[in-house]
Amino acid sequence: MRVVFVGPPGSGKGTQAALLRERLGLTYLGTGDVLREAVVTGTPLGKAAAPYMERGQLVPDTLVNDMVTELFRRHDHPQKFVLDGYPRNAAQARRVDALLKEIGLPLCAVVLFLIDDEVVVKRMMARQRADDSEETARRRVKLYRDSARELVEHYRSQNLIHEVNAADPIEQVYSSIAKRLSAKGN
Ligand code: AMP
Repeated sequence: MRVVFVGPPGSGKGTQAALLRERLGLTYLGTGDVLREAVVTGTPLGKAAAPYMERGQLVPDTLVNDMVTELFRRHDHPQKFVLDGYPRNAAQARRVDALLKEIGLPLCAVVLFLIDDEVVVKRMMARQRADDSEETARRRVKLYRDSARELVEHYRSQNLIHEVNAADPIEQVYSSIAKRLSAKGN
């Protein structure tokens, strides 16, 4: 059971990933968390990534790609995982394809979180993380819209996309995802 989450910030990906971890034992691989931790601990990666994160921009692929390879290695190439926050564009998606092919673990599903921009901006304002000023929130949502189109096309062509209405209650979103995963025989 290997799944990628795609959706704007504030669409509930982290919440659903936590449920998949708790209930189905998936390993959580979240690039946002790893980057924030790197910034807090002041590693070379954190120092390089911080200015981009503060501006609500994507951290350059070269930094993030190596980090993800290392993340899979650190978790001993898990058989069951949820990837949250990566890939964010088609180039990163091709990188994931290559990485998973190399370790012989193809994706089972890509969950696409559908939700209005205004709803997610409001949610991001409410959670008040350091990188969530309203201006940054709007920039991050716009950036998502711009880069997600190509990413979604990439996965649609592989017939992997499963859409969920991310404005639905948490348990409803969860059962939609869980159903899809079990339909895939996982
Ligand atoms: P997130 O918590 O997933 O929204 O990530 C927080 C921030 O980390 C983003 O706004 C980006 O600056 C950076 N980031 C996380 N994942 C990626 C990625 N796959 N590619 C580039 N930047 C990323």
